[in-house]
Amino acid sequence: MTQLNQDLTGKVALVTGAASGIGRDIAETYAKAGAAVGVADINLEAAQNVVKDIEAAGGKALALAMDVSSESAVNDGVKALVDHFGGIDILVSNAGIQIIDPIHKLSFSDWKKMQSIHLDGAFLTTKAALQYMYSNDKVGTVIYTGSVHSHEASLFKAPYVTAKHGLLGLCRVLAKEGAQYNVRSHVICPGFVKTPLVEKQIPEQAREKGISEEEVVNDIMLVNTVDKEFTSTEDIAQLALFLAAFPTNVFTGQSIVASHGWFMN
Ligand code: NAD
Repeated sequence: MTQLNQDLTGKVALVTGAASGIGRDIAETYAKAGAAVGVADINLEAAQNVVKDIEAAGGKALALAMDVSSESAVNDGVKALVDHFGGIDILVSNAGIQIIDPIHKLSFSDWKKMQSIHLDGAFLTTKAALQYMYSNDKVGTVIYTGSVHSHEASLFKAPYVTAKHGLLGLCRVLAKEGAQYNVRSHVICPGFVKTPLVEKQIPEQAREKGISEEEVVNDIMLVNTVDKEFTSTEDIAQLALFLAAFPTNVFTGQSIVASHGWFMN
């Protein structure tokens, strides 16, 4: 019988987009569970503030300036983490942005920007982490932050939906390739989470659609949930902890939807 364990003592984790929202909560949760955490973000100052909070709580962390769409920035950041803490056992590829526009109005540069942060970023961080994960016999865990939109479409979010579907493919191939190196992969698929990324959409959508902010929340964002609840960053962080700490590879290649009943697969 597999015993559940939430202890990450001795592990090193890299979390991208860790200066805010979901990534921040995962970084803090991993640190509380004993991991040394690379807090990587394009916003270095905000990443440094997260590191201060982790250290104040008795944890170990390193701020890393990293634009995940830049190969050199990713490679330098991963190397700095490995030099500092001696390895890398867990990657959470989480950095992301949102651009909302119908396909016929979307600029090619916005399309490419979305793919470069969400998909190139996932590929580049995975490739860099695997250089270290494949060179030892320890368990390696790679987690991608997908979305309910990894599984279903949404109006005006073509680049986001496309990129989030793409993460499923990367995760599944990595599950097959990584197995012989004891590396497993997962996609966590949240519903709407009230982070800065979503908070700014509420007034924007209310203005555009001529409806109240309450209607945006209830009739658009939470309409498909069973209980009109946002997914919380805490729930996602606990799921990321469960997956990183899980002692076997039984969940490899899987996407796990965490969305208050929106999209039941
Ligand atoms: P957030 O805006 O709170 O945090 C995103 C972080 O990513 C920020 O700190 C930002 O500086 C960083 N970032 C942006 N571009 C970057 C880049 N090029 N390189 C490195 N860092 C970069 O947003 P969030 O809601 O916490 O989003 C985190 C992830 O969760 C994203 O991938 C998002 O698509 C996904 N997600 C969010 C929701 C939601 O409702 N909030 C739902 C499903 C999935």
